[in-house]
Amino acid sequence: MYKSENNKFLVLKRNDGGNLVIVLDDFLDGVLVSLDPFFEEKGVRATATSGIRTEDEQMELIRQKALKANLDLVYLDCATADLRSIVHAGGHDQPYWQILWSQLLAKGQMINPPIPAKAEFEYRHADGRTIPAGNKVGLSEHQRAEAIDLSRNDLNLIARTVMYAVSKGVNGITKVLVEPNNGAVHLSCRRG
Ligand SMILES: [Zn+2]
Repeated sequence: MYKSENNKFLVLKRNDGGNLVIVLDDFLDGVLVSLDPFFEEKGVRATATSGIRTEDEQMELIRQKALKANLDLVYLDCATADLRSIVHAGGHDQPYWQILWSQLLAKGQMINPPIPAKAEFEYRHADGRTIPAGNKVGLSEHQRAEAIDLSRNDLNLIARTVMYAVSKGVNGITKVLVEPNNGAVHLSCRRG
């Protein structure tokens, strides 16, 4: 039971069966509890859609993004394959997820690897920099239990509401990033 399950305006994502589909720790739970009164004050409703992600969940996200990007036209079995299985791609052996992830970066779909890894191809970072092939990328803040995604309302309105709450003294949020590609506002969260 999370304390933020009692939130009124900034609620937690549930599946169709009514079960929670977001994983939090006490710190992230506390951030959501402290944000809720400011969402209520502004009359803004939103949903926390993602908190802590596991390695397997990050791999599945890569699979879903790969399918959306039509990579199954090239990697025919990527919808069902074991993403940890080793494939020969780019002249060497690597886990299946790693070549899908490298292809996503090359297509401009920014996502972190489930395990720190080198990208096979050159890609363009969200900030416009061109990153050479072979760049090592680390874990997502979600896997490090340092991020929450908010969604289900206008993203700029959500971001403004969070920044208002921070200006009023809500602690633990170090960065607010609107991510239209992911349909979410990403909050970087850091203890103390
Ligand atoms: Zn995020």
